[in-house]
Amino acid sequence: KLASREFKQEDTVIKIGDLCIGGNEIIVMAGPCAVENEQQIIETAEAVKRAGAKILRGGAFKPRTSPYSFQGLGEDGLKLLAKAREKTGLKIVTELMDLQHIKIVNEYSDIIQIGARNMQNFTLLKAVGKLQKPVLLKRGMSATVKELLMAAEYIMSEGNHQVILCERGIRTFEDATRNTLDLSIVPVIKEISHLPIIIDPSHATGKWNLVKPMTKAAIASGADGLIIEVHPNPLDAVSDGPQSLKFNNFNDLMNESRLVANAI
Ligand code: PEP
Ligand code: MN
Repeated sequence: KLASREFKQEDTVIKIGDLCIGGNEIIVMAGPCAVENEQQIIETAEAVKRAGAKILRGGAFKPRTSPYSFQGLGEDGLKLLAKAREKTGLKIVTELMDLQHIKIVNEYSDIIQIGARNMQNFTLLKAVGKLQKPVLLKRGMSATVKELLMAAEYIMSEGNHQVILCERGIRTFEDATRNTLDLSIVPVIKEISHLPIIIDPSHATGKWNLVKPMTKAAIASGADGLIIEVHPNPLDAVSDGPQSLKFNNFNDLMNESRLVANAI
């Protein structure tokens, strides 16, 4: 299998301009759950860049549990992300939910995110497999490691080997957190696959005050990076406010993370 260590012994390093994911540096992607308006995304981009993030996240197409919740700004959101990239030099990661938007999402993004709910949308996986663009593949909330790797295989078998895996918490009986962060996936993946893996402590915990400790644990576990939700004013966020960090808390997280990274 293309994603396996047997097929390729050395770690895959994904290059995006001068950035390397899967190399020695821990790459942090940060930004709001959803792009809401120009001021929100630009302000957040500038704040996360100042703190040391290299990639800006932000959803323009949102997979909401309820059809009555905010669904994202669509192409207008993509344009605002591009504006933020122009202003800050940050790279952009944003979710592709549907085949009909593949052209515009590819045009505006540096990394295409496939969300947890679409991890086994095989048509979508094959389609991004035909692109030459890094793909951030999030683990389905009830998917095993094997299923995650087979989803990666759908992308890679079409020719696109630039897959970044992402653990974002799985469904268990535990309800003290939104999901259960399965950190043991990091050493498990490192053993059986050459692909980089990053951790999303925001969706995994659902609580902003748990994001920093789980970030530090993720770094200690050997993760290649993190994706973290940050918002100028989490109380006003249209989605995922309770798990979003304010700018100052994100800055603290980055400072403490560097200490952990230097210690391992
Ligand atoms: C997100 O990253 O905003 C998101 C919806 O994540 P997930 O697909 O992991 O739920
Ligand atoms: Mn979110």
